[in-house]
Amino acid sequence: MMKRMLSIGECMVELRQAEEGLLRKGYAGDTFNTAYYARLAAPKDWAVSYLSAVGIDKVSEEMLGFMESTGVETGFVRRVEGRTPGLYMIHLDKGERSFSYWRSASAAKTLADDPVHLRAAIEQSDVVFFSGITLAILSADAVEALLSELRRARTAGKTVVFDPNIRPHLWQDRTVMLDTINAGAAVANLVMPSFDDEATHFGDADPAATIARYKALGAENVVVKDGANGITLSFAGKPAEFITATRVDKVVDTTSAGDSFNGTFLARYVQDGDARAAATAAARAAAAVIGHHGALVPREALPAAA
Ligand code: ADP
Repeated sequence: MMKRMLSIGECMVELRQAEEGLLRKGYAGDTFNTAYYARLAAPKDWAVSYLSAVGIDKVSEEMLGFMESTGVETGFVRRVEGRTPGLYMIHLDKGERSFSYWRSASAAKTLADDPVHLRAAIEQSDVVFFSGITLAILSADAVEALLSELRRARTAGKTVVFDPNIRPHLWQDRTVMLDTINAGAAVANLVMPSFDDEATHFGDADPAATIARYKALGAENVVVKDGANGITLSFAGKPAEFITATRVDKVVDTTSAGDSFNGTFLARYVQDGDARAAATAAARAAAAVIGHHGALVPREALPAAA
């Protein structure tokens, strides 16, 4: 029987500086990047699907075509008339990157607006991944609709995975941001935060504090990523474990380090539930990704499957 991993969120059109005066077009977004890396590492009997919403315009069609070309299924991406995908531009100034966004009316904001569609997609999946960015782009009602479906999925025995991915610029209100992140974590049985973000916004002193906080919210399992400092895992019924990061000689571009870690971890973890082996494979993949430019590095640049 085919199994399915479903990633829920927003993929955007990316424009980056190419030659003088020219822009190169790509497609990226945390939850899509995670699906991309999951597809590269997942067993053949697993489908990896994306759930989002796009328009009926040309660029939406191109985005779907791109996703399919990577092996990520798009059957659960809604088509919404009158909307278009969000867009962002990467500016490079002496090696420093900054971003401009046009996403406030993006189609993806409506990803949870059709309850029948949302339920059907989740019911046909075994592992469901979403992030704090997914929640940040939704209205309060849509957040509630999505979280209640995910709660239902968890009760039905599915694996619900949440990366808080805290991005203050996406939220209008800090209290709403922290409350919504907590609500997201509370429906998940696996939370995969980055320690930097958690320390900044929740004041955690160390990864153990992050783990304790998410366990108190009801997550059985927590994987704390902490850049070059390594990974701390806490899985139900087992003592916490530490895994060193893979050494990177030259950091080229850290975009998507966390996303490639998440995708590779999940693809490996679903095979046999060995979280330690999954984190080791994920750390190796993330190290390769930060040694290359761009969010989506080609399969050839990644280590062979562990
Ligand atoms: P995010 O990109 O979400 O902020 P992190 O910075 O914690 O997440 O990175 C995610 C993973 O990428 C880490 O758990 C680690 O395995 C790897 N990683 C990130 N930065 C480095 C680095 N400088 N050296 C080695 N591995 C790294």
